[in-house]
Formats: sequence, C-alpha cells, structure tokens
Amino acid sequence: MRKVIYHASIASLVSIAVSLAICWAALRAVGDDLDLFAAAMCVICPLVVAFPASAYTYNQKRRIAEAHGALKAAHRELAILHEKLAERARLDDMTGLLNRSAFIAAIDETRALENRGALILIDADNFKQINDTFGHLAGDRALVKIAEAIREAAGKARAIGRIGGEEFGVFLLSEARIEASLLAEEIRRAVEGARFAPEGAALLPLTVSIGVAPARKGASFSEIMSEADKRLYEAKQCGRNTVVIEARSAA
Ligand code: GH3
Ligand code: MG
Ligand code: MG
Repeated sequence: MRKVIYHASIASLVSIAVSLAICWAALRAVGDDLDLFAAAMCVICPLVVAFPASAYTYNQKRRIAEAHGALKAAHRELAILHEKLAERARLDDMTGLLNRSAFIAAIDETRALENRGALILIDADNFKQINDTFGHLAGDRALVKIAEAIREAAGKARAIGRIGGEEFGVFLLSEARIEASLLAEEIRRAVEGARFAPEGAALLPLTVSIGVAPARKGASFSEIMSEADKRLYEAKQCGRNTVVIEARSAA
C-alpha cells in the first residue's frame, strides 16, 4: 500500500509541475501572469485526477505482476512434479529398479554403439516354492532382498531393471571396464549371501540363475534377450545358482 501511495504521489507531483508550467506558459503567451486561482487549479485538478488514477493503475500493475509471479512459480512446481512423475513412471514400484519398458529403452538407446557390452539376465530359483511355502507377501519381500543384492553388486552397470515377475536384468556397457562374467558371478554371490527370513521362520537361502549374452551393435532387445534366455535355461539345467556365459559352459 505504501508503494502505491508513493507512486501516486510522484505521478501527482509531476502532473502538478507540468500543469503549472503549461498554465504559466499559456498565460504568459496572452500577456497574463499566473494568479493564485490559476495556480490553485493547477494543483487541485491533478491531485483530484492524477492521484487516484495513477494509484489505481499502479495497483493493477502490481497485482498483475504478483499474479504473473505466482503463475511462474506454479509452472516451475508443475515442471518439477512432472519430472518426478516421469522418473517414477520408469521405476518398478516394488523394487525401485527400472521397470521393464524403461530397462528395454535403456538398452535400445545404446543400439548404435560399437562396443555395447552385455546383458546379464537373472532369474530367482524355485521362487514358486517360496510363495507356496511362506505366502506371496514373503515372496515379495524376498524379491526386494534379491533386488537390493543385485543393485549393490551391480552399481556400475548402465541399467538395472526388473524385467518381470522374479526376473531381473543388468545391462553393462563395455566402457564400464568390468567383465560381464565377473559381475554376473558377483551378483550370484551377493544374492546367495543375502540374509532373508520369512516372518516366524528361519533364514531362507535365496539363489539366482544367470545367463549372460553379449549385446552386439544394432541388436534389438529381444535378440539379446533371446540369447541370454538360452543361457539362463542352461544355468537352470546345470542345477541353478549358476552363471552361464557361453553355451554349455558354467562358471
Ligand atoms: P525356476 O527356478 O525354474 O525359475 O523356478 P521358479 O519357481 O522360480 O519359476 P516359475 O516360473 O515356476 O515360478 C515363478 C514364480 O514367481 C511364480 C510366481 O507366482 C512368482 N512371482 C512372480 N512375480 C512375483 C511377485 O511379484 N511376487 C511374488 N511373491 N511372486 C512372484
Ligand atoms: Mg524362477
Ligand atoms: Mg522366471
């Protein structure tokens, strides 16, 4: 309010000064002098007209500027919220890893690279049995444990995701300078070392079987996945809790 009065006062003073100058010049032009009445009119008229008009105009401008500022702040908040939502939409609710589509997208965006690295496909062993014995909720907790172990072991990977159900994927770019086979083995051991006990039960061993496939330049996700899947199948055939890199050779 003080600012409105200040601005209106300045505008009124300028108007008074201009009115006095014009009046004085006009009267001089016709050979008259500025008398008290003319001077009073030159003060009163601008005061009556300029003060409320400029107070109103300035107040309106101030309100528009405030509304504009609030709108800009709301836009900023909306943009942040949108970013957060987009980020959340990429994640698997239960494990916090990338969800299937985000994981596939992360692999596909490396399609044109010369040295792409490898896909490590991880599947929890005998998981149905965990659900059947201890219930689906215990199964969910076991999946979270497995996801944590994978994340801890594969921190340097390009992407870590839950591909679906009890199946996870780790995509490693060759520039990470870690051998995919070594990382796969590290993941297998990390899950084996995870301590998980269903409610009211003793510690339950968790294990995973792993298939590793190279990601050749230009290969689609399903091409890489199908190769990794064959190796994963071999790992299951080899008795589970195993890493298979090349066909028919187990680590
Ligand atoms: P294998 O060692 O051959 O992989 O045996 P498996 O029992 O793990 O494989 P199978 O495909 O027979 O069963 C997978 C089980 O994983 C069945 C399904 O109910 C369970 N599963 C998949 N997604 C979830 C989930 O989000 N939560 C829980 N609790 N279980 C899940
Ligand atoms: Mg399984
Ligand atoms: Mg499976």
